[in-house]
Amino acid sequence: MTTIAFIGLGNMGSPMASRLVSAGHSVRGFDPSADAKAKLTLAGGFGADSPAEAVHGAARVILMLPNSNIVENVMDDDQVAQALEKNALVVDMSSSEPLRSRALAEKLRGQGVRFIDAPVSGGVTGAETGRLTIMAGGTDQDLAEARPILDVFGTVKKAGDVGAGHAAKALNNLMSATHLLVSSEAILAGQSFGVEPGLLLEIVNGSSGKSGSTENKWPNFILPGTYDSGFALKLMLKDMKIAVDLADQVNAASRLSHAAVRLWEEAAANLPDGADHTEIARWVATTSQELLASHG
Ligand code: NAD
Repeated sequence: MTTIAFIGLGNMGSPMASRLVSAGHSVRGFDPSADAKAKLTLAGGFGADSPAEAVHGAARVILMLPNSNIVENVMDDDQVAQALEKNALVVDMSSSEPLRSRALAEKLRGQGVRFIDAPVSGGVTGAETGRLTIMAGGTDQDLAEARPILDVFGTVKKAGDVGAGHAAKALNNLMSATHLLVSSEAILAGQSFGVEPGLLLEIVNGSSGKSGSTENKWPNFILPGTYDSGFALKLMLKDMKIAVDLADQVNAASRLSHAAVRLWEEAAANLPDGADHTEIARWVATTSQELLASHG
């Protein structure tokens, strides 16, 4: 049994922390939300009053936070720095920025603390069932030490050194978001021509146009009209921007990616703050109608 600090008990962190408790670990969780902490307590974990209290005495620290700003805020806190065990292993499972993760790893090394990045794909369902794909970056030794914990969440794929996992995750979501956008446009065009969306999906899913969007997001969250995948649109846009920034930094052509980011930005500006990312499909359909109306 390992004592694990778990910071960030949101849509993903909450079921992941519960899985660790079920696997027999002692989990000390922190989240500003009292409800999130109460859920962990109910599952058999300990709800800490601060990140510093959570990390105190923990050999492993898992972060499942919205973005790099918040990851850095938590790790830069003096009380957290003092409470961190020497040689503790920090595992950032958030979808963070690769270069900032490298810088954080370097900084923590100076404090005698190790860091790996291990962001995930597979959504809330994957988090609940232990079927996430974990894209890891770090030394072989640190990854090997993290494996007993990571295996509780899903399948680990090493992407490279520190930061490579975060790069892989952002690039994955750039592809995922672009597929979702183009499938939204294609299904709308099909529907306007008279091909029913469910039927077009059935055809595409047996053909070369299929993707995670056509196999999962459309049938489970868009066609039923629930738009409740548990992954916020603004978080998807954050990941896309990390990916195109990365492409720009390494001088890789990314014209289509930039165009996709612009459309997702427009959607984010037009939709409520907490909108689910699958709302992009409804937004595409609505804006199409508005465009038609404005052209008379
Ligand atoms: P979420 O917004 O549901 O959860 C984030 C949690 O962090 C919230 O409970 C929030 O209260 C907490 N938080 C904010 N500031 C904090 C602080 N200073 N200290 C401690 N906790 C703090 O987000 P999520 O959907 O669980 O996503 C978490 C991360 O995982 C993000 O980086 C996201 O991009 C990534 N991700 C999400 C999904 C998904 O399907 N939801 C899938 C893969 C990856």
